[in-house]
Amino acid sequence: MTACKSCGADAPGIACEFCGAVQRQPQSLEEEMTALDGISRAAQAVADKAAANVFSADTARAKRNFALTAFWATAYMPSSPDALVQVATIASGGIQANHLNMPSQNQLSGALATRAHAAATALIVRGDPRGSVLRAEIERLEKRAAEQSKGPQQHIIILVVTLIAFVILIAAVLMTR
Ligand SMILES: [Zn+2]
Repeated sequence: MTACKSCGADAPGIACEFCGAVQRQPQSLEEEMTALDGISRAAQAVADKAAANVFSADTARAKRNFALTAFWATAYMPSSPDALVQVATIASGGIQANHLNMPSQNQLSGALATRAHAAATALIVRGDPRGSVLRAEIERLEKRAAEQSKGPQQHIIILVVTLIAFVILIAAVLMTR
């Protein structure tokens, strides 16, 4: 058994489950899918390691986000169309609204959106019609996340305006009696 070229872990497989380093170029769709499985597990390991021994939940979350941002920005990208669809689908699933208002959450969502777009673009370049479908979906998710990320102030303004409109309506109804 050889050790991981990057982190020295035992029996890393095609992509190391601990650090995500690809040990050799996958030769088939099956090997590419195996490599993608390996880096998904590695992402979990990298995030857990970054947040280990951190007792503040917010700090732990930020550390996980920063580690995952760096991880996904440089993670292995396959070349088979079916594997690219898998990458775009999984990465776009991580595009989230920043409800907690953490810069690290925006950075992680941005890194995942970039990865999803890279996979969709690779499909478009290959003439695969799934590329433009995925690109539209990624853009929709980005837009939705941006809209949902708006601060609480906007919600309060909407609430106050609705309340004022309601009071005016009641007053109007009472006056016409
Ligand atoms: Zn490794």
